[in-house]
Amino acid sequence: MEYLRPSTWDEALGAKAAHPDAVPIAGGTDVMVELNFDRRRPSALLDLSRLHEITEWGPDGVVLRVGAGVTYRRIIDELGGSLPGLAMAARTVGSPQIRNRGTVGGNLGSASPAGDAHPPLLAAGARVEVASVRGTRRIPVAEFFAGPKRSALAPDELIAAFLVPPAAGAQQFAKVGTRNAMVIAVCSFALALDPVNRTAGTGIGSAGPTPLRAPDAESFASELPWESRDPLPDSAVARFGELVAAAARPIDDVRGSAAYRRHALSVLGGRTLRWAWEEYRCAST
Ligand SMILES: Cc1cc2nc3c(=O)[nH]c(=O)nc-3n(C[C@H](O)[C@H](O)[C@H](O)COP(=O)(O)OP(=O)(O)OC[C@H]3O[C@@H](n4cnc5c(N)ncnc54)[C@H](O)[C@@H]3O)c2cc1C
Repeated sequence: MEYLRPSTWDEALGAKAAHPDAVPIAGGTDVMVELNFDRRRPSALLDLSRLHEITEWGPDGVVLRVGAGVTYRRIIDELGGSLPGLAMAARTVGSPQIRNRGTVGGNLGSASPAGDAHPPLLAAGARVEVASVRGTRRIPVAEFFAGPKRSALAPDELIAAFLVPPAAGAQQFAKVGTRNAMVIAVCSFALALDPVNRTAGTGIGSAGPTPLRAPDAESFASELPWESRDPLPDSAVARFGELVAAAARPIDDVRGSAAYRRHALSVLGGRTLRWAWEEYRCAST
C-alpha cells in the first residue's frame, strides 16, 4: 500500500488528482477500523495530518468556516459558544481518545447516516466546502449526503471545510443509544431555533438512508408563539414530535426497530423543542 504524505493543501489536492483511489486519512478513527477488520484494502492512503490549512477556523463573511481537520475536542473547547448544537453532539462522540483524534471532516467523509455531527449541521443549514485541482464547490449539507455512506464528493475531491452560521438562538441535540458513549446512535435529533426569522432548523440521524431534515416540523415551528414567548402547549410539543417522527425513514436493524426509532424521535423532537423554547423564553427576561 502506498503512503502519501503531503505537507500542504495544494500538494494534497495534486496527490488526490494523481491518485483518485487513494483513501484520505484524517484522525483515522473510521479508516483504521476498516483496515483492521480488512473491510478495505486501498491501493494508497493519503495522510492529511500535516495540513495545517484544514485545522483552522474563523469568520468567512457572516458565517464560520471550520476546517475539515478540526477535532471534536476543539469544537467543544473553542466553538461551544457559537455552535452549541454541534458542540453538544461532539460531546456524545465516542470516548475522550476518539474526540481528540476524530474530525467533523472525517464524519462527513464517512457519510454514515448515524454520524453525530450531521444532524446539527443540517439543523444549522451548513454547507460543505470541497476542493480539487479543478476548483472549489460549496454544497448544502442536505445535498452532500447521497445515500448510506455515500456523498457528493468526486474521486479527485477532498473536504476542505464546512461553513455554518453562528447560532442565532437556542440549539439542542439529543441521541438515543444503549449507553452514553461508545455506541452508534439508535437515532438522534438536532434543533436550531432562529428567533429573528422565527424558524427552526432540524436534523435527524440514524433513522434513514441519509441524515434527514424534517421539513413539516420546520414549517409547523413558524406557527409557534414567537411574539408572546408563551409557554408551549403540550399539544404543540406533541405535534412537533409527531412531524419529526413522520419525516424519518428508519429500518429495523440490530440497534432498534423502525417503530422504536419513530417513537424515540417523537420524544426527542418534543423534548428538544421544550428545552430550546425555555431557553428562548428565558433569554427575553
Ligand atoms: C470507538 C469509536 C467510537 C466512535 N463513536 C462515534 C460516535 O459516537 N459518533 C460518531 O458520529 N462517530 C463515532 N465514531 C466514528 C468516527 O470517530 C467518526 O466518524 C469521526 O468523525 C471520523 O473522523 P476521523 O478524522 O477519524 O476520520 P477518518 O477515519 O480519518 O476518515 C473517515 C472517512 O472520511 C474520509 N476523510 C477524512 N477526511 C477527509 C477529507 N478532508 N476529505 C475527504 N475525505 C476525508 C476518509 O477517507 C474516510 O473515508 C467512533 C469510532 C470509534 C472507533
